[in-house]
Amino acid sequence: MGDYIPSLDLPPEAVSKHAMDKITDKIAALPPGQDYFSLEFFPPKTAMGFANLRARLDRMARALRPLFVNVTWGAGGSTATKSLELAEICQRELGLTTCLHLTCTNMSRRLIDKALQDAKALGIRNILALRGDPPRRAEYLDPDDHDGDGDGGDGGGGDEFAWAIDLVRYIRKTHGDYFCVGVAAYPEGHADESHPLGQSLEHDLPYLVDKVQAGADFIMTQLFFDVDAYRRFEETLRAHPSGAFRNVPILPGLMPIQSYQMIKRTAKLSHARIPDPLMARLDAVRGDDEKVKEVGVAILSDIVEQVREIKDRTAPAAPRGFHFYTLNLEKAVSFIVERTGLIAPVTLSDDDCAVEDPGPLPEIRVVRVDGDGGVDGGGDDDDNASAAAQQAAARQAARRRKFSVGSEPHDRVIVQGRAASFPEWETTAFEAGVPAGPVTTRANTLAISEGEGALGREATWDDFPNGRWGDARSPAYGQIDGYGVSLHVTVQQARSLWGRPARPEDVSDIFIRHLRGELSVIPWSEEGFSPETATIRDRLVALNARGWWTLASQPAVNGLRSTDPTFGWGPQHGFVFQKAFVEFFLPSRDWRRLEARLARAEMKDVVSFYATNARGDFVSSDTAAAAAAPASTTAGPAAAAAAAGGGGGIGEGEERHEASTNAVTWGVFPGKEIVTPTIIEEVSFRAWSEEAFGIWREWAKVYERGSESAKFLEAVRQDVWLVNIIHHDFVDAGGLWEFLLGGQ
Ligand SMILES: Cc1cc2nc3c(=O)[nH]c(=O)nc-3n(C[C@H](O)[C@H](O)[C@H](O)COP(=O)(O)OP(=O)(O)OC[C@H]3O[C@@H](n4cnc5c(N)ncnc54)[C@H](O)[C@@H]3O)c2cc1C
Repeated sequence: MGDYIPSLDLPPEAVSKHAMDKITDKIAALPPGQDYFSLEFFPPKTAMGFANLRARLDRMARALRPLFVNVTWGAGGSTATKSLELAEICQRELGLTTCLHLTCTNMSRRLIDKALQDAKALGIRNILALRGDPPRRAEYLDPDDHDGDGDGGDGGGGDEFAWAIDLVRYIRKTHGDYFCVGVAAYPEGHADESHPLGQSLEHDLPYLVDKVQAGADFIMTQLFFDVDAYRRFEETLRAHPSGAFRNVPILPGLMPIQSYQMIKRTAKLSHARIPDPLMARLDAVRGDDEKVKEVGVAILSDIVEQVREIKDRTAPAAPRGFHFYTLNLEKAVSFIVERTGLIAPVTLSDDDCAVEDPGPLPEIRVVRVDGDGGVDGGGDDDDNASAAAQQAAARQAARRRKFSVGSEPHDRVIVQGRAASFPEWETTAFEAGVPAGPVTTRANTLAISEGEGALGREATWDDFPNGRWGDARSPAYGQIDGYGVSLHVTVQQARSLWGRPARPEDVSDIFIRHLRGELSVIPWSEEGFSPETATIRDRLVALNARGWWTLASQPAVNGLRSTDPTFGWGPQHGFVFQKAFVEFFLPSRDWRRLEARLARAEMKDVVSFYATNARGDFVSSDTAAAAAAPASTTAGPAAAAAAAGGGGGIGEGEERHEASTNAVTWGVFPGKEIVTPTIIEEVSFRAWSEEAFGIWREWAKVYERGSESAKFLEAVRQDVWLVNIIHHDFVDAGGLWEFLLGGQ
């Protein structure tokens, strides 16, 4: 992980103003039976996603007023820097009571210490203490970890942190009562298949008692849709003979339903049952994404009502808490909390007196995610900087017209009271053509969050999240992968699923069996294939048989109805389109040949491609074009070389190449602008590629250090390139496949 440095290191005395920032103090101050809720966010994968989430968080905080917000932590510390950056935005910039998640397995004690110290320096008083992924035994640990205790050789760690309770104890030992500590619980039982009872509340209970007795202050649950399971869970806890749970706040975890596919996948990953009657309600509208969301709001609102009734019986004197997994999206959760009265109704007097308008957001500080964001902070209160920003905005506006419809102002944040400092993803209301009007009252802000009017359209532009290949500018981009790089299976499961690969043919076999439906999971995907993949299955099998291991793909589609059972999506009476693309790993020697074919003049406007390797070397059709353009000031190959540096550093006198944006899925619907749920571009490709290469490393760790499989997988990781190729001629359904599988 990179090092995170809080922008100001405050001594503990200086944070006394945060005394009421302990969640349990805030809950205790509420009257009996009062509702409250928390909202969970994860650190976006890209710099643009970060900037957009910041505006979204600000809006949601003003409109919805959660009691606190949660910031997730990637298993093994994989998102440590980004999680702390997001926690800083929440706690320090937006003044929200923040609960930082922290996992303890497969992580060094030094990193845990640093996270706790940084949290303290930021004024954070709440930690959700978690285990994270199952601990890997010493032989599976990092080669750099010389003493084999899991701490990277820096003392501590290893066996010290095997369960969440170890972290609870450690926080209490090292920080006393400074932090309010929460722990996780599972209404349907934790799905840890290594124990004989399997998934059951009975198995978890003794350990949950221990966690609370070791010093946990509150409990947050895994998401669930089965209210009967939750009823049993809360009743069992409250009546437990130990008395441990009598007064502990228990927050049920609820996930708004964003799309049919996503909720099925999330429920599977979380081992949460979707009761048949609920599934039937979703099945009835599964072809219409907007209806799925509407039905989802109704389902979640019913669940809130039923849980209220449970809480009124089990803990009548306590305030009633709810936790929402937002997936960084705002519309569905805004509807749910309003419809269920979890937020007080908005009245005129509320707007008049209750909302203190904090005015425009403070200046965005630099959030550099992978060195590629090109984000450069600048004070817009400086006149020169402001003028420069306006000029840049004007230039940008002119340039944008060349791009796809989907990148026009509707995918940018509207800034208030200042010029757009980051014109690539910010715009002023004027530039976006939004009529002037008050946007700072609570009623307005809530309406915006729910998608009303022109500003609402801006707020909810990413409302059709579409798997990994959504829009990298969206705060929700990348959520599909859960809590960071992980195989999502235990070591035992990994070995039984994928055996002990030692040759490229073994890997090809795994990918092909997955494509044929004979293997449910590969390291990069736990999902089966959508029906549309069946239409190109033979071609994908042929690529994999060659040792080009495919991770993602789609066939071309030219204007099918949005209700088409195989390709349809979005509201009824629309038409959908797709460009074919495929993403795959291939050996470096094959990549050199393919790269030469892609560079041919006749391919120039037919395909776009992005390619990278584990070292961060990067090549794309954009860099190739920049290198070839004679009139360019980029000094040709120098620009490509700069881009190939992986960090994207641009030397003096060099001009950055203009990155292309490829809408690969789009839909046209009555009364709506064109919707482009799937966009492939450099920033999203780079963000994903880090994770994709990280998964090779995770897979290698499944086998004993120095074993044939571990060495083979590591060698593959170092050799292969990850390539994404998009074929622009969506009328020619076979074009991409003929190019890849055809002649030299
Ligand atoms: C609200 C919530 C938020 C989450 N946020 C994140 C996040 O930000 N990042 C992330 O990576 N993951 C997160 N997770 C997922 C979590 O890390 C996993 O579910 C993990 O597998 C278990 O974590 P735990 O803290 O419940 O572990 P534990 O409390 O350690 O329990 C894990 C399992 O081990 C059993 N067990 C516990 N102690 C013992 C013992 N001493 N001996 C034998 N068995 C024992 C339990 O019964 C349970 O089956 C979250 C989960 C929830 C519910």
